[in-house]
Amino acid sequence: MAGARTAGLPWPAMAEYRPPLRDISFVLRHLVDVPALAELEPFAHADLETVLGILDENARFVAGEVAPLNRVGDLEGSVHDPATNTVRTPPGFKEAYARYVEAGWGGVPFPPEYDGGGFPWLIGTAMQELISTANLSFSMAPLLTQGAIDLLMHHGNEEQKEVFLKKMVTGEWTATMNLTEPQAGSDVGAVRTKAVKQDDGTYLISGTKIFITFGEHDMSDNIVHLVLARTPEAPPGTKGISCFIVPKFFMNDDGTLGERNDVACVSIEHKMGIKASPTCVMSYGESGGAVGYLIGEENQGMRYMFTMMNNARLSVGLQGLSLAERAYQDALAYAQERRQGRAPGAPPGEQSLIIDHPDVRRMLLTMKSLIDAMRAIIYVCAEAIDLAAHHPDESGRQTNQELVDLVIPVAKAWSTDMGIEVTSLAIQVYGGMGYIEESGVPQHYRDARITTIYEGTNGIQAMDLVGRKLALRGGAAIEHYLGNIAALDAELEKAGDELAGIRTQLAAAHTTVADTTRALMEAGLNDPRDALAGASPYLRMFSLLTAGWLMARQALQAKAAIDEGDGGDDADVVRGKLATARFFCEQLLPAVSGLAPAVTAGADELFAADLATLGG
Ligand SMILES: Cc1cc2nc3c(=O)[nH]c(=O)nc-3n(C[C@H](O)[C@H](O)[C@H](O)COP(=O)(O)OP(=O)(O)OC[C@H]3O[C@@H](n4cnc5c(N)ncnc54)[C@H](O)[C@@H]3O)c2cc1C
Repeated sequence: MAGARTAGLPWPAMAEYRPPLRDISFVLRHLVDVPALAELEPFAHADLETVLGILDENARFVAGEVAPLNRVGDLEGSVHDPATNTVRTPPGFKEAYARYVEAGWGGVPFPPEYDGGGFPWLIGTAMQELISTANLSFSMAPLLTQGAIDLLMHHGNEEQKEVFLKKMVTGEWTATMNLTEPQAGSDVGAVRTKAVKQDDGTYLISGTKIFITFGEHDMSDNIVHLVLARTPEAPPGTKGISCFIVPKFFMNDDGTLGERNDVACVSIEHKMGIKASPTCVMSYGESGGAVGYLIGEENQGMRYMFTMMNNARLSVGLQGLSLAERAYQDALAYAQERRQGRAPGAPPGEQSLIIDHPDVRRMLLTMKSLIDAMRAIIYVCAEAIDLAAHHPDESGRQTNQELVDLVIPVAKAWSTDMGIEVTSLAIQVYGGMGYIEESGVPQHYRDARITTIYEGTNGIQAMDLVGRKLALRGGAAIEHYLGNIAALDAELEKAGDELAGIRTQLAAAHTTVADTTRALMEAGLNDPRDALAGASPYLRMFSLLTAGWLMARQALQAKAAIDEGDGGDDADVVRGKLATARFFCEQLLPAVSGLAPAVTAGADELFAADLATLGG
């Protein structure tokens, strides 16, 4: 988008997309333990050098093929043709997707028995970061497909796996998740789509689903819809939901595609962001009923959805990180070019680069340290997902599952909240030019805005943390978690003066969160409404503490690498990690204490005010 303008300021140069490989490499080398994963039987081939080689190759692919389509995707969007109920993706998407399939990128984190690469989810997560940083809309097609693969792998029968799974793993067919209906958003139990069993064992599906990502498009030959529906005798609510495979096209016996199923995309939404990702209204059974194949047993659909929920929520949290990363790259490049005012100490008579102004540096360092914290949270959580599935000991699996359960609401909600904050800060760094579409920066902010809403709104994540996760093992899980954070103190003490500020702030935040957690749990026992009223500020403080903990670990690792002579990293990256960890813990983490009153205030004040008569 860089280029000359006919009048006024020149268009600012947008940074070329730079795959954040050095930052990812730091996390893989120091914050998670890739060699330990490679000791697990299924991942024996996933040694660190192989993994970094794959990421390097993948980064080259997304930078060359996918990133250049981000802007055209935003400008042209996907287009629905009402005459044929087809959807045309923006120019270049179809071709780039074909090359993505040809290269086999989608299958890397899935087991070899389904023709996948057999790599850990952690590596799939790193690849997801690369592609969603390059082009969030494009990444949504593989992302939804991966969620559906996860569900089918765990709950599909052998025939379903044979017919559908392999094509989904290769990416030849994409998939969708059909939960939402007009009356059933956060309240999935209100789903009304009908499923009626036929004599041949299939079901006829009829109903309308809304907001279905990549429900229709031109990038793959077939689309495998996973649809939540209700059989006639099903009990009400989430206990009566079943899950069906509804393919767009049936398969012939010889493996070729056959007739079309009775499913159509009747329109797509005009959205604020992710414009290239078609968000479809799907109609099932307009002409008698769409044929669906039951996954597992009737009425178990929600349970099956939960299998993939953690991975899907982690992936959406990752979208917050990805957009923040992309926005930071642009903001940094702009701040290194734009001149305004005279920075303190600069020679008179010349304008300074805005990066030399303290306030702009604060914005940039805030962005970068939030990005590092999000990345640490997400990768540690992805590693725990692998260990929860593959650790050789039952106790190891359970400990890691608990970590995942507690951190998923943080990874999803805090990272997407911070995605919005960081993309907004990028606009601020650009000044007025940041508000102008041609600069390219507003797209990151607009794209980020949905991430706090889908895959369970952030309000729902907060309720999940407070209502379900704090109660895990009767409160013993959160106690264990907080104990782990407290245990870092001894290491920080040993590290000496350099990390003293981090140590002080982490200890203070820990005390506040531990006290507030106890108060919140007691309040919840007396009146759940009080606990729910404090859920969102609690999620925020718990997230800040989690981020502070991992940033303190980052600081320890960076310091050790510097002391030992860098350990395979670039020296500037390692020094940068120490700087962002210190900034985060000393300047952002103290916000924890300010949140405590809102967590423990209870619900009375919220309900005392008659909102309808307050002003207006
Ligand atoms: C671009 C886009 C893509 C999407 N992709 C898909 C997809 O592929 N498949 C799919 O099935 N769906 C998809 N969705 C739907 C998305 O998951 C829902 O929009 C989301 O779950 C929220 O539901 P809702 O919009 O009905 O909001 P509502 O549920 O009406 O929520 C409105 C507000 O009320 C709050 N709220 C609701 N219930 C409670 C409660 N019990 N306690 C406290 N607060 C509450 C929410 O947090 C929110 O702030 C997509 C949506 C969009 C916009």
